[in-house]
Amino acid sequence: MTDFAATKAMFHLPKGMIYLDGNSLGALPRAAAAAVASTIGDEWGEMLITGWNKAGWMALPMHLGDRIAGLIGAEPGHVVVGDTLSIKVYQALAAGLDMRPDRRVILSDSGNFPTDLYMAEGLIRALDKGHELRVVAPEDVADHITDDVAVLMLTEVDYRTGRRHDMVDLTQRAHAAGVVTVWDLAHSAGALPVDLAGARADFAVGCTYKYLNGGPGAPAFIYVAPRHAGQISTVLSGWQGHTAPFAFDLDYRPNAGAERLRVGTPPILQMAALNAALDIWDMADMADVRAKSMALTDMFIKGVEATCPMLTLNSPRDAQARGSQVSFAFKDGYGAMQALIARGVVGDFRAPDIMRFGITPLYIDEGDVQGAIDIISDVMNNRLWDRPEYKIRAAVT
Ligand SMILES: *Cc1c(COP(=O)(O)O)cnc(C)c1O
Repeated sequence: MTDFAATKAMFHLPKGMIYLDGNSLGALPRAAAAAVASTIGDEWGEMLITGWNKAGWMALPMHLGDRIAGLIGAEPGHVVVGDTLSIKVYQALAAGLDMRPDRRVILSDSGNFPTDLYMAEGLIRALDKGHELRVVAPEDVADHITDDVAVLMLTEVDYRTGRRHDMVDLTQRAHAAGVVTVWDLAHSAGALPVDLAGARADFAVGCTYKYLNGGPGAPAFIYVAPRHAGQISTVLSGWQGHTAPFAFDLDYRPNAGAERLRVGTPPILQMAALNAALDIWDMADMADVRAKSMALTDMFIKGVEATCPMLTLNSPRDAQARGSQVSFAFKDGYGAMQALIARGVVGDFRAPDIMRFGITPLYIDEGDVQGAIDIISDVMNNRLWDRPEYKIRAAVT
C-alpha cells in the first residue's frame, strides 16, 4: 500500500493553499532544490565540461526515460526524455506518417490540446504532400478509423473535461485498419495506470511538468515501440540522435534504437529536478494512486454539486471514464477562479467557461478536498467572484 502521508511530506506545499492544479504544473518536490543546487555547484561548477561523462549527463535522457517507462508500461530503453511536448508530437507524427507513405490522413479529435493540432498542421505544410488533418468529435473517433488514415493522434485524457479514451480498444481498431497510433499522455502519465506495451501502442509522448512534478519547463518524453524503433525516420535528425555524435560525420546516420529520437543537447538542470521528482514515484504504486484519485474526484464532485447548483459538471460522472481532474462549466468561470485563488484554492480556467481542478493523490488528501469544497461553496453562494478585479484577464489563465 502506498503511504500517501509519506509522499505528501516529500513536497513543499505553500501554507494556506490548497493546490488543485497539479495537472498543469506539479508541486515542488522538496528534494528538487538540493538536487539542482548539487548539479549546479558540484557538477557544472566543479566538473565543467567533464560532467557530460563524469556526472552521467549524456546518459540522462535514456536514464530518465527508463524511470518514466516504469510508470507508463513501456519497455526499458524505449522512452527518451528531451525537448518539449510540442516537438515530440511533431517527431512522433512525422515518423508515423513516414510508415504509411500511401495514406494522407491524420485523424484526431476536437478535445485534443491545440498545440498537437497546430504541430500536425505545420508538419503537413512542411511535407507538402497533400496530407489532411481530420478532426472529429471525441465520441466519433472510432467510427472514423478508416483505411485512408495514416496516423491516429489522440490525447488519452482530455485536458479540459478529463474524459478518457479507451486506449486499448482504439489502438486495436487502428491496427485492424492499418493505422499507426500516436498517444499523447500529457494528462495520463502519473495520473493513472498506462500500459503502452500491453496496448501495443506505436508511439506515445507526454510531458513531465504536470503529474510527474518535474518543474516548469521540464522536458518531455517520447516512446516508440521496440518493433519500430530501429526503422523509424527521424525528421528532426539532430546530432544527439546520431549513432556516433562525437564522430562528427557530415552524414546523418541514426542511432540503432529509440535513442535516435534524441535531438539536441539535453537540459541538465531541468533533468536534475525531474530525477528528484521521480524518486517520489518510487514510493507510490500507480494502482493505489488511481484508486485514491477516483475516490477523491468522486468526493469533490459530490461535495461541489451538493452546495453549488450554479456549477455544471463538465467531466464524466463515471470515475473510470475520466482522468485525475474535474471541471465545471460556469459563465463567469474566469472571475470565479480568480476569487478562489485569492482564497487559496488554486485551480485554473480554460476558455470559454471551464473551471478546472486537478486532484493529485501524491500530495492532495481528503482534508484538502473538503477544504476546497467549503471555500468553493462560500465563493459561489455569496457571489464573492463578482468584483471588477477578478475580471481582468492575465496572460496565463
Ligand atoms: C500540456 C500539454 C501540451 C503542452 O505542450 P508543451 O510543448 O510542453 O508546451 C501539449 N499537449 C497536450 C495534450 C498537453 O496537455
